[in-house]
Amino acid sequence: MNLLNAPRETIEQIRSHPAARNLGSVENWSEEQFYAVLAHAYDLPFRRITMAEIDANAFHRHQAFFIRNGQIPIKRLPDMLVVTECEPWDKKRLQDLLQEFELGIKRVLITQRNYDELLGGLSRYKPEAPRIVEPAETPVFFPNAAWENADVFHEIVRRADLMRASDIHLEPSEGYVRIRFRVHGNLLVQRRLTLREGEEVIKSLKLEARLLASSVGTFQSSRVRLSLPHGKTLDLRVEVFPTVDGESVVMRLLDFKSIDRTLEQLNLPAEYYSQLLDSISKTSGLVIVTGPTGSGKTTTLYTVLQHLNSKDKLAVAAAETGHLVFTTLHTNNAIETLSRLDRLGVDRYQLQTLIRLVIAQRLVGVLCPSCKTGREAKEHERQLLNQFNIPCQPGHIVYEKRGCTRCNGVGTIGRTAVYSFFSPSEAVRELMGTDCPILDIIRKAKEGGFKTVLEHALKLWLDGTASFSEVHALAD
Ligand SMILES: [Zn+2]
Repeated sequence: MNLLNAPRETIEQIRSHPAARNLGSVENWSEEQFYAVLAHAYDLPFRRITMAEIDANAFHRHQAFFIRNGQIPIKRLPDMLVVTECEPWDKKRLQDLLQEFELGIKRVLITQRNYDELLGGLSRYKPEAPRIVEPAETPVFFPNAAWENADVFHEIVRRADLMRASDIHLEPSEGYVRIRFRVHGNLLVQRRLTLREGEEVIKSLKLEARLLASSVGTFQSSRVRLSLPHGKTLDLRVEVFPTVDGESVVMRLLDFKSIDRTLEQLNLPAEYYSQLLDSISKTSGLVIVTGPTGSGKTTTLYTVLQHLNSKDKLAVAAAETGHLVFTTLHTNNAIETLSRLDRLGVDRYQLQTLIRLVIAQRLVGVLCPSCKTGREAKEHERQLLNQFNIPCQPGHIVYEKRGCTRCNGVGTIGRTAVYSFFSPSEAVRELMGTDCPILDIIRKAKEGGFKTVLEHALKLWLDGTASFSEVHALAD
């Protein structure tokens, strides 16, 4: 079962609890088994709660609170509130309840799955228009006053960095300039500038980025290294381009030190993980990461390089021979990559001996755990899965986006990568050395288990991580 939400201490505590005797390794428990032991550890009643038992009116009166707190009211008595609980280790939930209601609180432990079902049921109980996609256009995080007298351009960057935004958008539109930050994959409105303020910001930006201040009607792009007031340096990739309403700007924050990831955090399926380790243990050859702009290629590449640097010996070996090469390529998949290299004049023998691994990847939104809504998989969806030999029983529950306060109404929190690994077997390698069509090489690889990005994404849909619409968009 998925124990990702539970902190390590809780899992340790559960593992060593007397009630866990004879249950074997915690990773192999069912969700029910885990919660049964949890109930003992926290001395809470544990059972399954049905839609008929919950107080839907109380829920809707305090909807934002309950969704944020991950709980559902069961019964409200004059001096007592009975609620569901599926993360009893989170002490803040209880404190927030006490503060919000000033009542005695009684909690009934339910499984995360049970909670998701109830939340799904509640969304059907009161059909609401889809939630707002953007927060209100008032500054959400910072009051306007704080921006006065500051160098607005530096202030924008500093705040984006503070919020761990990945990019900053300045978008002119009817009489003002809107500033949006992308945080965890979601674009959030920060504030508006007057057109005049906007012009000033773009002027300072152009100065820092050594762009032509006078050239307003053309696309310009550059890199800037900024020193922020508190001593941090930040690399930005800046793009300025004309729109009908004026100049628009996109700045990507390239703070590589903050991509402090380990290979595990790439969320690779186990088979890909071992293929990656195998490929990067070689001292020669080519590892290529492919995908469109914004598919997380750079993160993958940087993570791999960081891993190699931390393994001193390997780095030395690679440096000595200098032949293990990592690169990114702006292609969509393994077929396109091989075709591109073919057209570039890389001969087949080189292709055969050089290519260690081609990674293709995309990003999909991770459904917000607080508001994702369960439903049964539809017939045509199950048929699509069958085409890829991915089993899906009738009645299997999948999830859709909804939107709540926790995810700013977007329905997703962050994004995760989905991958396709082309790591040629001996048989495939042999074909690569002949002048057969590239398609035949891929066909041969498929016989040996090569899978597309879509197939990985479908699995994330099946296990409730992603929504069908986003996954389906990857089919081409
Ligand atoms: Zn949400």
